[in-house]
Amino acid sequence: MKTNNLLNKLNKLRKIKIGGLVYNIEYTELEESLGRTEYPKQLIQIDNRQTKEQQEVTLIHEIIHCLNNQRSELETEALAQSLYQIIKDNNF
Ligand SMILES: [Zn+2]
Repeated sequence: MKTNNLLNKLNKLRKIKIGGLVYNIEYTELEESLGRTEYPKQLIQIDNRQTKEQQEVTLIHEIIHCLNNQRSELETEALAQSLYQIIKDNNF
């Protein structure tokens, strides 16, 4: 399988700047969701018990929430999966 540069970078990322704010990215065990963002703490948490691929989709999902947290869960998830597919299909 061809290594995907962008997804490799995404996996190693522990801080991300979104809209001028730096969010910390933490991999941990979560109880109620696969991922969550604490906006006041600028903290993105990803459940580390998911597969690597699912963690990647979840991180993209949380990044989309940070861009605009007015979107619905369904819309956010649809965007995350579409974006993930494009990244994979084009070996970004
Ligand atoms: Zn969400």
